[in-house]
Amino acid sequence: MHADHLFAACSNKTKIDPAVQSSETLYVRKVELPEDFIMGADISSVIALENAGVKFCGWDGNEQDLFKTLAESGVNYIRVRVWNDPFDEEGNGFGGGNNDVETAVLIAQRAKKYGLKLLVDFHYSDFWADPGKQMVPRAWKDMDVDTKAEALYQYTKDSLQKIRKTGVTIGMVQIGNETNARLCGETIWSNILKLMKAGSKAVREVIPKARIAVHFANPESGAYETYASKLKYYDLDYDVFASSYYPYWHGTLDALKHELDNITDKYEKEVMVVETSYAYRPDDTDFFGNTISDASAVTKNYPYTVQGQANSLVDVIDTVSQMKKGIGVCYWEPAWITVGHNSYEENKVLWEKYGAGWASSYAAVYDKADAGRYHGGSAVDNQALFDENGHPLESLKTFALVRTGNIIPLKAVAIKDVAISCDLNEEIVLPETVSAIMSDNSHQQVPVKWEEYDSKMMHENGVKQYVIHGEAEGMQATCYLSMIKFNFLKNYSFEDGELGNWKVTDNGKTEQAYIEKKATDSLSGEYHFHFWSAAANSVNFDLEQDLDDLKEGTYRYQISIMGGDGGNTSIYSYVKINGEIVKTEPSRITSYNEWNTAVINGISVSSGDKVTAGIHVECSGAGSGAWGKIDDALFNYDD
Ligand code: CA
Repeated sequence: MHADHLFAACSNKTKIDPAVQSSETLYVRKVELPEDFIMGADISSVIALENAGVKFCGWDGNEQDLFKTLAESGVNYIRVRVWNDPFDEEGNGFGGGNNDVETAVLIAQRAKKYGLKLLVDFHYSDFWADPGKQMVPRAWKDMDVDTKAEALYQYTKDSLQKIRKTGVTIGMVQIGNETNARLCGETIWSNILKLMKAGSKAVREVIPKARIAVHFANPESGAYETYASKLKYYDLDYDVFASSYYPYWHGTLDALKHELDNITDKYEKEVMVVETSYAYRPDDTDFFGNTISDASAVTKNYPYTVQGQANSLVDVIDTVSQMKKGIGVCYWEPAWITVGHNSYEENKVLWEKYGAGWASSYAAVYDKADAGRYHGGSAVDNQALFDENGHPLESLKTFALVRTGNIIPLKAVAIKDVAISCDLNEEIVLPETVSAIMSDNSHQQVPVKWEEYDSKMMHENGVKQYVIHGEAEGMQATCYLSMIKFNFLKNYSFEDGELGNWKVTDNGKTEQAYIEKKATDSLSGEYHFHFWSAAANSVNFDLEQDLDDLKEGTYRYQISIMGGDGGNTSIYSYVKINGEIVKTEPSRITSYNEWNTAVINGISVSSGDKVTAGIHVECSGAGSGAWGKIDDALFNYDD
């Protein structure tokens, strides 16, 4: 703990801009926060962006230093990544901001000017380090781990001394970035810890008052306890156990809190979120695709709007503030916006020349497989807190407004899509209300007016999906309507992972007869019903389900099976009405992944009938015993 440091040196602190003390359009709930709660922004790409001609504006709309605008908006910390040598032999930058120590010095000077503290984030790599990538710097490539540790110690010391000369307050230093069981080319904990300890020692020597942070990603993995136990076992000297938290991929906030509180409970460490962000729009603005778009199949707990972005940030801040030793939150690259507005070709020139995109083609000499192939612009321009012209978004005010709250009348900010299914035998009924997402991220039902649709055509075209638009609260509503053949069987593909309404009657001694999870052995989904028996004539069972309250009419039923080593078999699907088998259809098992489907048509059902659909499987067995898989039962109207 370095509490003395936290309250010192606030003399040149930038004041919050009056324009940031309220908002007419942004709803922000209040979170009780200590004065020294870290509100960070990682703007490592800023120097490259400015070199490429990008301009940023303040709250009055005039051009202004980005650092000043951040400080005026409640940001109190700047995080900067540091790569050892992100250049090729001709001096061409790898991109991603070309963030070497010299760039960190430029960022430190500007942070100092506006009273912002610095979090130095050493990647100990020549380019991006993350859970998938912890490449050793080229200059350290052939070193054994002890020599590498010595080089890392010296490098950390030299770098911090250079940055400290700017006069900036280095409040925290990260010894590695997202080091999930890897660091600097090492994959064994004893080696990883040798390097971390060398980094830690250097930080303590140069800046004794700075907090030392370790940084991991994927809180949803449940691996943090393991990581922390390794750090303890090898006796690493550190203060903060930091995590990335991207809501799209990293699980719930409750789980994040649980993971980090556990680290505090067991190891007494402070914790924080050093990387988070959220999209304020789904579309791209720099002609280079983004990690998040409407097409992304990710968790989307907030709409991709300015309000949704702010709500995500408030929720992360709130969660960290409620942790036992949560000390702050850093937003990742809130200003990595487009370098131009005309074309991919024009932007590419700037990304290559100034390193203003995530990677340039020059990075191929170091990271051929990834940067070498996919180099280009910003993949997070739609997650910035500035628009594509460099103007601050209302969501940037969140850092300040979350301390006071900005409670304005709630309004609908987005309409949730509706997905409904309609049995081809039934009338189409669209919902009269849809769920509106309100500015506080709560949901409210609001009336909707759907456009005209051709019900007759939809019934005649059979199984198909349609998109019907409508209007609610002045916004577009969308209904995905699936015309389906209704399946009266529950858990028809065994995807519940348990029998549920299915019933197994073992007439022999079937050794294995249960629901199995194995997508490659399923006809659809991940689960199927599995059977096997080694002994001859032991496979003999019925698998069936009762269907209650069927309307009077004519139905069809089918079920699929595959398997092998059946010997002599008696396999058939059947339908019982009021306990009596009325129809059967023979089936068989042939070989692996050869599915046989037994279809029964023309099942007459009267009102009040008790109907049962099933499959009988009886095998004498061959080889190492009869085996098989049953999947995808369907019971619906016969038309
Ligand atoms: Ca982009």
